[in-house]
Amino acid sequence: MNNFQYYNPVRIVFGEGQIKQLSELVPTDARVLITYGGGSAQRTGTLDEVKEALAASGTRTVFEFGGIEANPEFTTLLKAADMVNEHNIDFLLAVGGGSVIDGSKFVALVSSLTEEDDTTVSREQAWNALTSYCRDIDSAIDLGAVLTIPATGSEMNSGGVINYSERQAKLPFGNALAFPKFSILDPIKTLTLPERQVMNGVADAFVHVMEQYLTYPVNAKVQDAFAESLLKILIDEGRIVKQDPENLETRKNIMWTATMALNGLIGAGVPQDWTTHMIGHELTSLHSIDHARTLTILLPSVMRELKESKKEKLLQYAHNVWNITLDDTHQDEDAVIEAAIVRTEHFFRDLGLPVSLEDAELDASAIDPIIKQLEAHNMVQLGEHSNNDLEVSRRILQRAISSKSA
Ligand code: NAP
Ligand code: FE
Repeated sequence: MNNFQYYNPVRIVFGEGQIKQLSELVPTDARVLITYGGGSAQRTGTLDEVKEALAASGTRTVFEFGGIEANPEFTTLLKAADMVNEHNIDFLLAVGGGSVIDGSKFVALVSSLTEEDDTTVSREQAWNALTSYCRDIDSAIDLGAVLTIPATGSEMNSGGVINYSERQAKLPFGNALAFPKFSILDPIKTLTLPERQVMNGVADAFVHVMEQYLTYPVNAKVQDAFAESLLKILIDEGRIVKQDPENLETRKNIMWTATMALNGLIGAGVPQDWTTHMIGHELTSLHSIDHARTLTILLPSVMRELKESKKEKLLQYAHNVWNITLDDTHQDEDAVIEAAIVRTEHFFRDLGLPVSLEDAELDASAIDPIIKQLEAHNMVQLGEHSNNDLEVSRRILQRAISSKSA
């Protein structure tokens, strides 16, 4: 196992009806800006529930900022940051999924980036901050979250991804100041999700685990066993939720699994390979494909293309997650690995997710622009050995044009 530090200060408040805890969790005299997305928080009544809880005690002043897009937009977020400065906001409360929480983290980090004697956030400074992963920002507004879709783990980590359509860029950032102070996870809130979003969430969490697991072995037994358990839970519960969407126990398990998938725990002390996510971000920014769907399109091809360097972990994955070993049907290691990849594809397909560019109505002509974007965003040394260059990414995309499995 590699050396590591593990730090995660996020208080998780999990369970039915827990939104009322906001009256205790948000400072009683705070000037709060509630941030939310395109309307689901209003439609489902969650926004009213949140406002009621904030009004239940103290002397808080509450403002609202709605309209944060799925794949949160840089320009929208700068408007929210201006509102923070205009109204002297000292607490941001994100109500939504990864997009609203990521976007609110970015607002928390960039709202101090104004020109002298001005309350407007400088677009140039905010862009420069994003292109250097917001690493150097040293102050931020406090943030809390009410999660409405289990998927990204953003509720319990310090990272985010911001889309800037004008520049065709979707870029990640990370800064310890962006850890939420708390996140409320009420599984009831997930019952209003359209099926597509439920399945997207299961797939995003699955790929998060894979990208911290599928590298080379470092004898990290806790991390490996946790990762394999999370994968098996997502496979089982993903199928159950598809058949029985009202099953609250399944909703609870999916919600906590998605959080555990990307809260730093399984990624501590192990190599990581975020190739699938980094190429996936370009597919979202160029073709507006849902985040999780870009991942299910790419992961099988990443596994096939990088099979040699990931061989030991692929065999471990085949055995421990899918129960596939050398036998009469799978007579060599390559057959075992291919069978595990095909099972992974079938799992995604069973959830109604695409596993090739063709499934997303794209063809080989999509590849060159993606490679160009990867280069422009300096995504030229991906993988656990930083040696997945643009040629490797091109081969992954070529493999992804059509699926190998029926
Ligand atoms: P999302 O983009 O936050 O939300 C997806 C859709 O679900 C939105 O249209 C939203 O509608 C709707 N929705 C949310 N909750 C709902 C509910 N309870 N009922 C009905 N509809 C609901 O989805 P996400 O998958 O959580 O976030 C994706 C973003 O996170 C991407 O930008 C991705 O790159 C990023 N990401 C972040 C991390 C991280 O570690 N921070 C990791 C992976 C991915 P409304 O807009 O109307 O609310
Ligand atoms: Fe993701």
